[in-house]
Amino acid sequence: MKGVSLICSMSTAEQISESRLSILLRILRGKKGRGTELISLYVPPGRQVSEVMETLRDEHGKASNIKSRTTRGHVQEALVKVMQRLKAYDKAPEMGLVIFCGAIPRGPPGSEVLELYELVPPKPVNVSYYSCDDGFYLEPLLEMVRPQEILGIILIENSEATIAKVEGKSVEILGNYTSGVPGKSSKGGQSARRFERLRDMVLNDFYTRIGDHVNDAFLAIPKLTRIIVGGPGNTKQEFLRGNYLNYQLKDKIAAIVDTAYTEEQGVKEALEKASEKLERIELVEERKMVQRFLSEVSKDSGSAIYGEKEVTHALEAHKVQTLLISEDFDDVVVKVSCSSCDYTEERRAKEPELELFLSSVKSERCPKCTNFTLTAEPLHRVFDQLLEKAEQAEASVEVISSKTEEGRMLLKGFGGVAAILKH
Ligand SMILES: [Zn+2]
Repeated sequence: MKGVSLICSMSTAEQISESRLSILLRILRGKKGRGTELISLYVPPGRQVSEVMETLRDEHGKASNIKSRTTRGHVQEALVKVMQRLKAYDKAPEMGLVIFCGAIPRGPPGSEVLELYELVPPKPVNVSYYSCDDGFYLEPLLEMVRPQEILGIILIENSEATIAKVEGKSVEILGNYTSGVPGKSSKGGQSARRFERLRDMVLNDFYTRIGDHVNDAFLAIPKLTRIIVGGPGNTKQEFLRGNYLNYQLKDKIAAIVDTAYTEEQGVKEALEKASEKLERIELVEERKMVQRFLSEVSKDSGSAIYGEKEVTHALEAHKVQTLLISEDFDDVVVKVSCSSCDYTEERRAKEPELELFLSSVKSERCPKCTNFTLTAEPLHRVFDQLLEKAEQAEASVEVISSKTEEGRMLLKGFGGVAAILKH
């Protein structure tokens, strides 16, 4: 069979950064093979490459049983390419090695191009893995870039307080403390006032103690980004008004929520109640990016551009610092061709209307031979293509949701694609 051409999209023995990896993952996610023919290989640190080679030679042998001639050819060629790359190593690099290789369709059958991605990830590969599937296996890499934000939780009420650390899905209780504050006095007069004074003293003592514990615990976690304060009633506000917390920690308070509980149950309650506020903070960051873009546009400073065409040019010229792209930018490039003559053209469709578009083409006359023999095939998502260009240009990428006014403005007013240029 005719060999497919190879694009070495990425080949680096140097460790790639987390931000580059996340762009690459968005690109790889969109790659689908025509059959079960895309190869993913994960080699953990220190593993002997000769052993991996043996596995691949084995797979090459097994692949000869694949019924479809095209798929068989693609799988075997991809395996050969991967083995050629592996020859450059004796053993896997310090962080391990990941290789993806497979024939990616560009249009109708026969248009496949063999793509190869070889990378050393930013964190150690912890699996030894091989698969041949219709997509690349990305889970271990996705795990590396998933934001692992560390949250601090303070739950405080009159009688009790809880300090906890939340990292991903794991909750660690760092301390539970009781105040020994007596309940409200029911007696009146002189003794009640004395009682209240005593109560305030004990409470102040308790706040100081909790403040010290929180400062010790949270300042020791430099990666702690945000703090949620919870608990029933007004105690939490009273605690925050007093100067019990270190100023650096005060700045990290992202949400104050009412919770009925303390301890582990209270932590879960606080996380749930704060989630909306935390998400709003992320949106604030996105908003700031778009606002920066808008202000540059209004100043006509020349450092902000928009529109797919212009941004594409700037990316290709490596002039882009930050690419802003709407997550709802859903254009797909479709190749329309005629089966009776040599007519072809490229058109755009919106992803949600793609099926409708593909079938509507069949009822059109070919502009060249006038037969009803037009067919259409999606080539690629423009979103992926822009990310791919940003990746090559080493530009940073902000995917902007349409949940904010600014996000909607980017999509409706600027075509969903904009960029801030390098100075
Ligand atoms: Zn035609």
